Amino acid sequence: MSATTHTDRLCLSCLDDLPRELFIGGKWSPANDHRQLASLRPSTGDTLATVAHADATDVARAVAAAGAAGRPGSRWHRMSPAARSRLLHRVGDLILAHADRLALLDCLDNGKPLRVARAGDVPAAAAVFHYMAGWPGRLNGENVSIFTGNPERHLAMTVPEPVGVVAAIIPWNFPLYMAAAKVAPALAAGCTVVLKPAEQTPLSALLLAQLAQEAGLPPGVLNVVTGDAATGAALAAQPGVDKVTFTGSTEVGRSIVRAAAVDFRRVTLELGGKSPNIVFGDADLPQAMDGAAHAIFYNQGETCVAGSRLYVQRQVFDEVVAGIRERAAAIRVGDGLDRDTDMGPLISAEHRARVMSYLHSARAGGAQVTGGHAPDSPGFFCTPAVVTGADPQAPVVREEIFGPVLVAQPFDTAEEAVALANDSPYGLAAGVFTRDLGLAQQVGRRLRAGTVWVNSWHVLDPALPFGGMRGSGWGREMGRAGVDAFLETKTLVNDLGTRPWGTASAPR
Ligand code: NAD
Repeated sequence: MSATTHTDRLCLSCLDDLPRELFIGGKWSPANDHRQLASLRPSTGDTLATVAHADATDVARAVAAAGAAGRPGSRWHRMSPAARSRLLHRVGDLILAHADRLALLDCLDNGKPLRVARAGDVPAAAAVFHYMAGWPGRLNGENVSIFTGNPERHLAMTVPEPVGVVAAIIPWNFPLYMAAAKVAPALAAGCTVVLKPAEQTPLSALLLAQLAQEAGLPPGVLNVVTGDAATGAALAAQPGVDKVTFTGSTEVGRSIVRAAAVDFRRVTLELGGKSPNIVFGDADLPQAMDGAAHAIFYNQGETCVAGSRLYVQRQVFDEVVAGIRERAAAIRVGDGLDRDTDMGPLISAEHRARVMSYLHSARAGGAQVTGGHAPDSPGFFCTPAVVTGADPQAPVVREEIFGPVLVAQPFDTAEEAVALANDSPYGLAAGVFTRDLGLAQQVGRRLRAGTVWVNSWHVLDPALPFGGMRGSGWGREMGRAGVDAFLETKTLVNDLGTRPWGTASAPR
């Protein structure tokens, strides 16, 4: 056990009064058989908190509560768009009002630097609620002209309807933000939700549930079941779920599609990535070096859009790689509570071992690796790594590592860079650094990626659709597309009759 400092004790007080049970139907209740799940603190390896561990019975209870809360005639179903909008705003406001505590929870539970959580994750989560609050009153259908022989006979229209009960399953890398990204658009569309946070980081979702209740969300509209992979699998397969929205690994995404195929429930998938970043020789090189380092090392490299493959035009390759190596060496790795920390620990001992195994096999294959050390101290720390000279078919180049590991390779022409970038089973994000915006456009249009950043990285906004191509998933979150993902379009055709013109009379 590591020593607990005075600061640690102060910070750990953010756990006082935090609900640790399941939030179902507007009430906190223990898991079936009172099962518990431990969440670790990645910077020490100690147990941070234990929470309820939901099983299939609990999941069924939560899905039934969500179904009842959204039923025709329910309070939620009858609520005006303006009232729904006010509720979403209120949740966003409450997130900001509790920003310090939420940031602390994510810092302790995930390991990320407190100042990053406070300046990034928490305001971003609030912004999603505030942005989505603008949608409920704007979700209109259309009148549609149809021709059936008599142009006055039919009145045809589309009606957007909430898809129903949404199962939202999220990973551990941005615990609060991921919860907001699923819950806010679903509620904006009028759905009800069962949220399953990752087993490694359940805490901020529990506080979010408490804040949603305080905001006045009717019971059962948002339910939170904490648990592990089995809990997630039970939720994805539970009858009564109309849509699964999942963020996580490509492998689990595949199993969710299989479960959904049984009754064709709707699915949105935000999966992994191995995102390419292309630096041309004419780029502002210090900007490109900063951008490339930020692309891969932000959030310990534990971001789905991490710019993990770097392609640099040959004449500036050595200079750019040296600049990124310098930046990597200057990154201060440490406890997220420490004000000076730039990069926290990885999420778990297993995950760190997996990251190290990629570096080990890269070295064994003849690649040059700088950084990538695991200090012999408590916690799951790993220093940022830069790899050059790897075999283009090596796992370190092809597979998602989800850690602070950058693989760099030179190219000569724009065509070659695009071919290298697109040679991946993934298609989540990509970047281009150049002063030639015409070239950036051309390259950007040819890249197979859901998002392309030019001379930047990690620029996200709730108004911007986000999602992947190929192995990176199905569908889009955020923006109008992100709300549409929680709606069904109903077509309603009214036959107005065939009364001959001239015989119409006012009803008596
Ligand atoms: P994971 O797929 O193992 O777990 C994600 C969530 O799914 C967790 O809540 C987990 O309990 C649950 N789960 C696990 N097995 C399940 C099953 N069989 N059925 C239903 N639910 C199940 O992923 P992870 O290791 O927690 O997260 C890392 C992965 O997430 C990376 O591959 C990363 O790229 C991806 N990710 C993608 C995005 C995106 O927006 N595209 C964002 C963040 C993370």
